[in-house]
Amino acid sequence: MRKVSLWLMIMLCGSLIWAQSEGSDEIGDDFYPGIGNGGYDVQHYDLDLEVDLSRGSINAVAQIGIIATQDLSAFNLDFNGFTIESVRIDGVEVDYRRAQAELTLIPNELIESEQTFEVTIAYQGIPPNSQNPTFAEGWVQYRRGIYVASEPAGARNWYPVNDHPLDKATYTIKITVPEPYVAASNGLLVDTQDHENDTRSYVWENFEPTASYLVTVQIAEFEMQSYYTEDGLLIRNFFPVDIAEDAEITFSQTDEMIAYFETVFGPYPFEVYGAVVVNTSLSFALETQTLSMFGRDIVVEQSGRRTGNQGIIAHELTHQWFGNSISPATWRDIWLNEGFATYGELLWVEHTLGVSDRDEMISNWYASLNTPDFIQSPIAAPGLPPGNEIYNLFNASVYLRGALTLHALRLNVGDAAFFRILRTYAARYAYGNATTEDFIQVAQEISGMNLQSFFQGWLYEKKLPPIPQMGL
Ligand SMILES: [Zn+2]
Repeated sequence: MRKVSLWLMIMLCGSLIWAQSEGSDEIGDDFYPGIGNGGYDVQHYDLDLEVDLSRGSINAVAQIGIIATQDLSAFNLDFNGFTIESVRIDGVEVDYRRAQAELTLIPNELIESEQTFEVTIAYQGIPPNSQNPTFAEGWVQYRRGIYVASEPAGARNWYPVNDHPLDKATYTIKITVPEPYVAASNGLLVDTQDHENDTRSYVWENFEPTASYLVTVQIAEFEMQSYYTEDGLLIRNFFPVDIAEDAEITFSQTDEMIAYFETVFGPYPFEVYGAVVVNTSLSFALETQTLSMFGRDIVVEQSGRRTGNQGIIAHELTHQWFGNSISPATWRDIWLNEGFATYGELLWVEHTLGVSDRDEMISNWYASLNTPDFIQSPIAAPGLPPGNEIYNLFNASVYLRGALTLHALRLNVGDAAFFRILRTYAARYAYGNATTEDFIQVAQEISGMNLQSFFQGWLYEKKLPPIPQMGL
């Protein structure tokens, strides 16, 4: 086409400039195209949730404090389901559109880069079912209560969010429930309010930056038990009323675990910790920030202080340093969460039962990974998880081979350098994000060794490397 009128050219250019200032509808995670968004940085979420357990619905207002990182003519939040009642920016109603889990807000005038603004979204309805075929992700109502477990991207199933660990924020969460239910969440309980209709509001303040998948709401008939550790850290646990005594025994080593892990990882990174036991059996536990969640089965079916359940408790606690304070920059870096937390289990066994028990576990894990049937997979290489299937994100290699990688590193560099590597890494990336390459960099810097081929074998190649120091 040769003849283009001047006004058409101006129109075309104008619309191009307008289009270029839309925030991206994804954050750039190669495992999960489409999740997260670009063009802004959320500072704080203030969620006000009225929960109707008989209808299974919530009535909510989300206030989201944001800083623009570019000019924004439009931008996206991740949000799935619900009926939206209103969308405002700085108190003024704005247009929006929805397509699957993308909510696009269209401000009335251009938001300039570095401008701070507040989005307020009122919504209600029954939280949507998880889209994850392997386990429920997001808001789950069960017979005796509600739990929220959102890893990796289920937060969008209950509030509008930039749903990727790269955009951490602080949270205020107010949850209103009918008596006798109790509502727990991350951080500190700063207020409760009783209302005339026999409902009670619980206001939780979470002061440290938190990845969206680590935000939780827990509703059941809980007994709260709280105490301070010798170092003055507040521990508050939420246990189902009928098993509270047994649960207290199951979790009675928490303060000793924190004291021990502080000697190997450095200071506990948050202002509070505790466990919530969901009032139904789960096939998993999750390191929800400052309030790790466990199924009722950890108390009922594995009662007391057995090696197995203490391992799971040590695992979720270790995540508070590795996964929560330092979160993965991309989901490809998941071994930085799971390999480290699994190594926390080994360290707890070493500390409480001794080196020979630890080495027996390592040998068993090595043997389980080193069979022809096992799908050997490199744990940090580009490309999707085993089977080319995103739902294999949490495959056994990420946990076991991840932990073995750390033990092999320890045997290579020696105990002193190894624990300095862990403490340096924990301190340097605290409250932020790290990549696998960031960890390799710290390991080489502290050890003074070139570890490229070591990590190449353990993290990026299919074949399981030997551990010659253990005859494996
Ligand atoms: Zn884990």
